[in-house]
Order: sequence, then structure tokens, then C-alpha cells
Amino acid sequence: MTPAIAVQQLGKHYGSLVALDNIDLVIQPGEFFALLGPNGAGKTTLISILAGLTRASHGTASVMGYDVLSDYREARKRLGVVPQELVYDPFFTVRETLVIQSGYFGLKRNDDWIDEILQHLDLAEKAHANVRALSGGMKRRLLIAQALVHKPPVIILDEPTAGVDVDLRQSLWQFIQQLNAQGHTIVLTTHYLEEAEALCNRVAVLKQGKIVALDSMHHLVHNTRGYTLELRLSSENVPADLQMWPCRQEGYVCSLKITHGAEIETILSILRKHEIQVLDMQLLQPDLESVFMKLMEADSANIV
Ligand code: ATP
Repeated sequence: MTPAIAVQQLGKHYGSLVALDNIDLVIQPGEFFALLGPNGAGKTTLISILAGLTRASHGTASVMGYDVLSDYREARKRLGVVPQELVYDPFFTVRETLVIQSGYFGLKRNDDWIDEILQHLDLAEKAHANVRALSGGMKRRLLIAQALVHKPPVIILDEPTAGVDVDLRQSLWQFIQQLNAQGHTIVLTTHYLEEAEALCNRVAVLKQGKIVALDSMHHLVHNTRGYTLELRLSSENVPADLQMWPCRQEGYVCSLKITHGAEIETILSILRKHEIQVLDMQLLQPDLESVFMKLMEADSANIV
């Protein structure tokens, strides 16, 4: 199967700054993929190279089998990018903007699809409004509409929900999930990790231009070693033998970092020995946010 996105030994330098450091990444058609990382990790640089807006210093990148450099037009036709920054022409209406955008891709009769996009993005009422007169959130919706106008098989959303209200977020995700179910490949960058965790099947985490984790979302979150065992105890005097586990105590509540579930029995037997009762107990699973924080704390050289 031709990958939706394939990137090999991709690098980008800005003078002495290494924005992307020999990235290898393959995303298959139909994936809902999260590209995560802190500010400055290289996500937008990677997206810009795929969209043909930035030239890589070395390595190759392709969209649906078309090289982004030597086959730029074919690659670009198959890609829809929702950029982070608002760029729009204030002299046209919403509908005109989308008709013009269709023209860039050689699409003459695109009205039905434009209507459908406007409906899904709750912009139908503003179809004849001047772009200048839209609110910030509505302009962002228009950016999303622009990226979808040529029904690209691969859609990259660079922080699409930053500054967007809860209602639109929900309808946007419904629409994107529907497109994904129809076979479109979705790549999402976001700082809302709970959104990525809920939506994406696979994830790459970038840090300082390197991929420091690449895994299925489920595997990454659930195979991360370590849980937090939160205990409410009958005494504030936590026995010294419990200090072998990293422990945080607030009054009667003691949170212990454990690696395996089997450690719980040992902890309970220590408490029994000291005649301390467990009044309440919770085992907290790691979530994407805790995994992400761990990856950011670790030395990248030791991870992948
Ligand atoms: P954010 O989450 O803040 O959007 P990002 O992961 O998208 O961050 P990039 O925008 O790709 O990060 O930036 C990666 C690195 O490259 C940063 O250190 C940034 O300062 C640098 N960089 C990006 N564009 C340029 C440029 N045109 N000239 C010089 N340095 C740049």
C-alpha cells in the first residue's frame, strides 16, 4: 500500500539550529495520527515541508507516493493543510474564498461540496459575509474549509482548535471523524492532549527535532510503566518502610508511585503490620498527559 505520508532521513537546519533531525516516519492511508511535541519541537517545520512551503535541508518526503519536491503539484493536490496562523484575503466573501480556492485545484463545479463544508463548519449563514467581518473563531473555520475544498485524501490540522469554542470543537471533530471513516488520512497537531488521546490511533512525539516516541496511542499510554496508588489512611504517620516507593503525602492521603500491580499487596501488608487501616484506595492509570510529561523530562537519547 502506498503510504499517505512517507518521510526519510528528513532534516531541516536554520543556520546552526537543527529544527528537524533525521526524521523517519510512515503514516498509512486511513490513519488518525497525532503529531505532538512542545513549542519549537519541529511540528510546523515538518508540515511546511510536506506542504511544499519549506525546503528540507536533506532527506525525502512524499504524500500518497508523490515526492513533495520533484512531484510538487501531484503531492499538493492530495494534501489539505489547516495552518496555525490566520491568513485570508479580506476582500472576498466566505463562499467566494472557497470558490477561488477550488479554482487553484482546477475544480470548476464544486458548489455541492462547498455547501456541505459550510454546513458542517456552521458557516452557512455567513456564506455571503465578507471575510473581514468574521470573528476570530469563524476565520479559523474558514481556514479549515479552505483546506478541505479539494477533498484531499490527506488532511493535516495544525492546532485546529486553538481559540475555538466548545460547540465548534465538537462539530469539527464529528466532521473530521466522518472524513476519517470515509478513508481520509488525518494528521493532527495539538497541545490539547486529551483531544489527541480521544481521537488518534497512533502518535509520534517530537522533541528538539527528533522523534522520541512512535507508537499506537493505546500502547503508548497503557504500556507506560508506573501507576499512582492513592491511599487514604487512618493515620498520618506513614511507616518508614513505605519510603522505598516515591511517595507524596497530604494529611491522611498518601500517593505512591508503583511499577507493577503486584506491589499493592506488599504495601498493604506493611500497613497491616503497622495497624494502619486503608479507608479508601484508588489506582490511577497513566494518561497521555503523564506519558508526555515523562517523555519531556527524559533524556531524548535514552528513549527511541
Ligand atoms: P509550536 O508548537 O510552537 O507551533 P513547532 O513544534 O511547530 O512549535 P517549529 O515551528 O517547527 O516548532 O519550530 C522548530 C524550530 O525551528 C524552533 O526552534 C523555531 O524557532 C525554528 N524555526 C522555525 N522556523 C524558522 C525560521 N524561518 N527561521 C529560523 N528558525 C526557525
